Amino acid sequence: MVKKTIAKLTPYIPEKTIAELKQEQGLTKLVRLSANENEWGTSPKVAQAILDWGVKDANRYPDSEVTDLRQAIATGLNVDPEGLVFGDGLDEIIQLLSRTLLSPGDEVVLTQPTFSEYALHAEIEGAKMVNVPVDVSGVTDLNGMLAAITPATAMVWLCNPNNPTGTYVSHQAIAEFMAKVPKSVTVVVDEAYIDFVTAEKPASVVDLLSKFTNLIVLRTFSKAYGLANFRVGFAVVDPQLAQTLQTVRLPYNLSTFAEIAASAAYSDQQFVQKVVTVVAEERQKWAAFFKQLNLLSYPSQANFVFFKVDQSAQLSQYLLKHGYLVRTGLGPDWLRITIGQPADNQAVQKLIREFVKQ
Ligand SMILES: *Cc1c(COP(=O)(O)O)cnc(C)c1O
Repeated sequence: MVKKTIAKLTPYIPEKTIAELKQEQGLTKLVRLSANENEWGTSPKVAQAILDWGVKDANRYPDSEVTDLRQAIATGLNVDPEGLVFGDGLDEIIQLLSRTLLSPGDEVVLTQPTFSEYALHAEIEGAKMVNVPVDVSGVTDLNGMLAAITPATAMVWLCNPNNPTGTYVSHQAIAEFMAKVPKSVTVVVDEAYIDFVTAEKPASVVDLLSKFTNLIVLRTFSKAYGLANFRVGFAVVDPQLAQTLQTVRLPYNLSTFAEIAASAAYSDQQFVQKVVTVVAEERQKWAAFFKQLNLLSYPSQANFVFFKVDQSAQLSQYLLKHGYLVRTGLGPDWLRITIGQPADNQAVQKLIREFVKQ
């Protein structure tokens, strides 16, 4: 018998491959702006590191401790190396945290809308979702989330910047929030897009870990570092909790190839900075574009924009016919578009303008 909590779930619909979609649509060119991938690829240091390594030790199990990458990140973030837990992408970390920390009947407080994986894994564990809508500007309502906490609350998810709205809450706001949250409640701050924040530096709340043992910070190599295919994400947690998570985690979840790729990408902060700078410039142009067309969009601090438009399904089809895949299904009449290379952004804006004026 399938577990009751799983039988009622609808599956996550993953991206089709670009080749598959091109064939289906009869397109020679397709730009995928639906998954918030890095449109500038990844650091050239990654290719070099992988080529240098070759297929060495392909017959050996990888380093379960992920020692080299662990050391590099602990130094880079100024955190205890014992507090790092690595996953096969952040997706696996979300699953691992839910599996370890949630029991049937627990309440999980979430922003509405937010990344769907949090609720998916919470539901599998039999937890109960408590959704707190974003405010009128699309920003996570921290006071609303505080008010939603009850004695049954086990976990609060804060995606910052939030996917899909792109909105950001400040370091200070999260610090004040943490001071009011009961110690028995785990607060997970998913910083998948934190590198793209330009509103303040540093934006990350990793420094708050020394103050709040119930805080967990998540990072991934899939977005700013451009390594989505290698599947490397990690959590920064209280070292004591890390030990528990290590017992639940699959022992060889990260291949040496993934570790080498992530280490090389991490060593090239210049690449990340270049991407972040162009994305921030293009983000402003997108905001000006929406304003000019009188389309509602939320202020983004991430590498994507979220906007409301009539006939969004038809618009997404129109864009697809012209070789641009965008993300639908995240809200009625809302579309999410990954910020692409300047020429692609211009092309998509031209197509949207044509469509809206029809
Ligand atoms: C993309 C994304 C992830 C998943 O990242 P992976 O490391 O590729 O699994 C996690 N959280 C958010 C908010 C994301 O947008």
